[in-house]
Amino acid sequence: MKAIYCEGCGVELQSENKEKAGYLPKSAWNNEHVICQRCFRLKHYNEVQDVEFTDDDYLRMIHQISDTNCLVVKIVDIFDFNGSFISGLQRLTGSNPIILIGNKVDLLPKSTNRNKLIHWMKKTASDNGLKVQDVFLISAAKGQGFQEVEQAIEEKRKGQDVYVVGCTNVGKSTFINQLINRSSGVEDAITTSYFPGTTLGFIQIPLDDHSSLFDTPGVVNRSQIVHYVTDKDLKLITPKKEIKPKVYQLQDKQTLFFGGFARLDFERGMKQSFIGYFSNQLMIHRTKLVQADEFYEKHVGELLQPPSAKSLELLPPLVKQTVKIPHERTDIVIPGLGWVMIPEGGITITVHVPKGIHISIRKALI
Ligand code: GDP
Repeated sequence: MKAIYCEGCGVELQSENKEKAGYLPKSAWNNEHVICQRCFRLKHYNEVQDVEFTDDDYLRMIHQISDTNCLVVKIVDIFDFNGSFISGLQRLTGSNPIILIGNKVDLLPKSTNRNKLIHWMKKTASDNGLKVQDVFLISAAKGQGFQEVEQAIEEKRKGQDVYVVGCTNVGKSTFINQLINRSSGVEDAITTSYFPGTTLGFIQIPLDDHSSLFDTPGVVNRSQIVHYVTDKDLKLITPKKEIKPKVYQLQDKQTLFFGGFARLDFERGMKQSFIGYFSNQLMIHRTKLVQADEFYEKHVGELLQPPSAKSLELLPPLVKQTVKIPHERTDIVIPGLGWVMIPEGGITITVHVPKGIHISIRKALI
């Protein structure tokens, strides 16, 4: 049978599964204009229905942006830069200008060098094939950094529409609600479905008589640790307030465990400090490297948690990568969890993280 696509969001229509994206009751297939049940509800009842989208469904929806003239505002979680990156975004959004916003800046220690962080974001975006016009740091929750962002949006959109894109959990809804709240005083506008859906299946918020801001569905990126933990564990690994560094003096042949999610082996080099920037509720343990494998087997899900025994079933096995750290203050970033700063450098370490999660190395932010 020839595939038919929803005229609302572009997803392929199907009548087999009500819970899945693109559901259309059999009786409605012969209508002149066909839209999926989710778009139907959004349009007629102003109700956002949760359905299972496949990763391709999201990308197809975002791809519609390339047919418009607009400004794209991409939001990332600064604790999960790699995990919350949408690869191929440049292709999906066409030649439209993009500004990049790093959210959750309230969680960073006050001593963080923000310029370095912005520089790192620009470079990482560019290494990932994304050309951005500008980069900003904000706290959507606390309303920090909004004046600059609002100004940049006004200046760069040149009277055109704005599309806000981001992966799940980066704080996209919080950001949009904060924007609306600042301009109209309305609180939590998005979650209460204050705004109707659009022909593209996006939520549309008027900016003026001729243009709007569109909220797009959160894209799922499989390298987000978020997808491999229970909600309870997610609460534990997500810092709630400004993170406090924890210092460990290590000799070579010692290992640090970050709950049961990650492990860092100090293979070779001079004794030095390792400074962890993680949620206070993530337990950090030190062992001897020779005992580390056995220690993990025995204690993961218990002493080494989160993950809880339940989350453990979701977690891909840890895979390791050996890296030489240069002779300078360096951060080893474990996306979705935090980072370890090595002040002196000049050592060799092995990092173990769940398969599919990609660590990165950068000049220390602090
Ligand atoms: P969405 O899935 O991208 O729409 O993300 P949400 O807006 O639902 O936010 C995801 C999680 O991040 C929620 O637990 C929010 O409370 C939290 N969050 C969002 N913005 C911030 C922020 O600026 N700072 C902090 N600390 N947490 C935030």
